[in-house]
This record gives sequence, C-alpha cells and structure tokens, in this order.
Amino acid sequence: MKPSPLRYFRPTSLPDALDVLARLGDEGKVLAGGQSLIPLLSMRLAAPPALVDINSVPGLDEITVDAGTLRFGALVRHTDLERSDAAFAAQPLLRRALLNVAHLTIRNRGTTVGSVVHSDPSAELPAVLTLLGGSVVAQSRAGGRQTERKIPASEFFIGPLESALRPEELAVAVEVPVAAPGEGTALVELARRHGDYAMCGVVARAVVEGEQLKSLHATYISAGDMGSVVDLGAEVGAVGADQVDLDALGAFARKVVETDGDIHATAEYRSHLVQVLTARAVRAAVDDAVNDVRKEAS
Ligand SMILES: Cc1cc2nc3c(=O)[nH]c(=O)nc-3n(C[C@H](O)[C@H](O)[C@H](O)COP(=O)(O)OP(=O)(O)OC[C@H]3O[C@@H](n4cnc5c(N)ncnc54)[C@H](O)[C@@H]3O)c2cc1C
Repeated sequence: MKPSPLRYFRPTSLPDALDVLARLGDEGKVLAGGQSLIPLLSMRLAAPPALVDINSVPGLDEITVDAGTLRFGALVRHTDLERSDAAFAAQPLLRRALLNVAHLTIRNRGTTVGSVVHSDPSAELPAVLTLLGGSVVAQSRAGGRQTERKIPASEFFIGPLESALRPEELAVAVEVPVAAPGEGTALVELARRHGDYAMCGVVARAVVEGEQLKSLHATYISAGDMGSVVDLGAEVGAVGADQVDLDALGAFARKVVETDGDIHATAEYRSHLVQVLTARAVRAAVDDAVNDVRKEAS
C-alpha cells in the first residue's frame, strides 16, 4: 500500500520548522528518520494531512557533553550516538542500549530522539531515558514567540505511542545526566532474532560506594508501565555489592511488574522473563559499578 495523499514541508531553518508546525497544529506530523513513521503511513495505520520533514534543518545533529549533561539533537542517528566515544565516556548505557535497536541499516537512518518521541513500550530508549532520569527538550513558536520547555521522562511517556509533546512542538534534543562515579548500568533483553523488538527487556542501574550497594533501580521493555522506575534497592537494603540476592530480586520484580500477552509471548512467559532477566541485568549492572570504583581507585 501507499500512504494517503498528504502535504509535504521541508523547512530549512529551525524557526521555519516551528512556524510550519504551529500553523499546522493537529494536522502536522514531524518526519525524522522515518523508520517508524513511514511504515505506519504505508500501511495506512496513520494518515496525517501533512508531514514536516526536519532533515534539512541545520544544528540538530550535534552531540555535546557539558556541565554533567549529555545532549543529543533531533537529527543524531542511532549509529552517530552509538559510535560517539564522547557519548560513551559520558553515559555508557546509551551505546549498550543502541546496539540492541533494530538492524544497522535502520540505525543508520533512525534518530534516537525520534525513538524517544515515538514512545513505543517495546523500544529500548524510553526505558533507558526513564531509568537515567533524562528529559526531552521541546521548542515551539505558537503566536510567533519561540518557547522552550524540558519535559522529564517521568512525565513524558503517557502510554503506548503517546507522549506529552504537543502537536506544535518539536523535540529538538534529549538530555541525560552523565554517569556518576560508582554508577554501573546494563541492558539485558530477549528477542526472537537479534535486532527484533524485545519480547522483554530489563535496564538496570546500580550505584556503589566502596563495595557497598547504595541504590539499585530498573525499568522494563515490553513490560510494566512506561515512565515508571522500580526501586530494587529498597528490596535488598544496604548490603555489600557481592551479597545481592539475585533470586529474591527476580521474584520481587515478577510480583510488581505487570505483563500483557500478545502474538509474540503470553503474559505468563513475559513474567518469567521479567524474573530471569532482572537477575541478569542486576548482576551485570552491579559488576559494572564495582569495576568503575576499582578503575577510579587504581
Ligand atoms: C524493522 C524495524 C525494526 C526495528 N526495531 C527496533 C528495535 O528493536 N528497537 C527500537 O527501539 N526501535 C526499533 N525500530 C524503530 C527505529 O528505532 C526508529 O528509528 C525509531 O523508532 C524512530 O526514529 P525515526 O527517526 O525513524 O522517527 P520517525 O519514524 O521519523 O518518527 C517516529 C515518530 O516520532 C515523531 N518524531 C520523530 N522525531 C521527532 C521530533 N524531533 N519531534 C517531534 N516528533 C518527532 C514522528 O512524528 C513520528 O510520530 C525498528 C524499526 C524497523 C523498521
């Protein structure tokens, strides 16, 4: 099938892009890498009256690290971010997550900001952004005046394919905090084939001081509520990093993280994956944190 007839705009500056979006309101849809939107249009699961292609807008392809914040613009492709050594040094979880996103050809074109805005519960980036406490930087020009707001991940994801971004707003960038000393992270998921959307995935973040666990959190892919973080640290209490009871944590996660069934997996199987993958992700995140502390000390 082919998309429904639509109007196509290709602004060449940020103010022009924001003006077009303000004029179109509900009728406009931003086109970034097109890796999610174009299939939806082609299958006529979406039929917006107008597309605003942002690929000719300059200045949206930058990756910067400044004052404890890593920022990437709306035209930074998944592979740009994955291959950026500065981004990896600042927040290693992004590369770890992006290596699980789709296939190389899709990552060459798809944007990481687009993946966040698309708000797919099966995608890696919404879970990563939520766990890291990042935010989406949105700009608009309603009434001819340019305004900017930062939307924290905890408020950004409303539900499947639904975000807090307004129709006239462009997500110009996403910001995440630089990894703190003693912070360790991991993403563990299970997909039928590498590059497919995960049937279930867990993103974990541990912070250790000395070799004592200070905090432990997780977010879930294809399971649980988008935008919510599970505090696993409250369950384990103050223990040594090598004393974390992985079996107990897996069982706890299974109890508190809700799952649904679909054509890829039953709810029961997903709950089993939540349990097993939580234990694996926690082990990897805690080990990563301990390695970070040892590296700092040597
Ligand atoms: C076969 C296949 C497998 C895939 N597997 C995975 C996977 O395993 N994991 C995963 O996470 N993703 C996967 N994807 C999706 C891929 O990561 C997309 O790149 C990503 O979801 C969307 O980025 P995009 O730039 O292509 O956005 P687009 O397709 O251009 O847009 C997606 C949506 O976001 C909106 N949007 C995009 N950018 C902005 C912006 N700056 N401001 C406002 N609105 C915006 C659009 O209007 C649209 O609604 C897969 C895609 C395909 C085709």
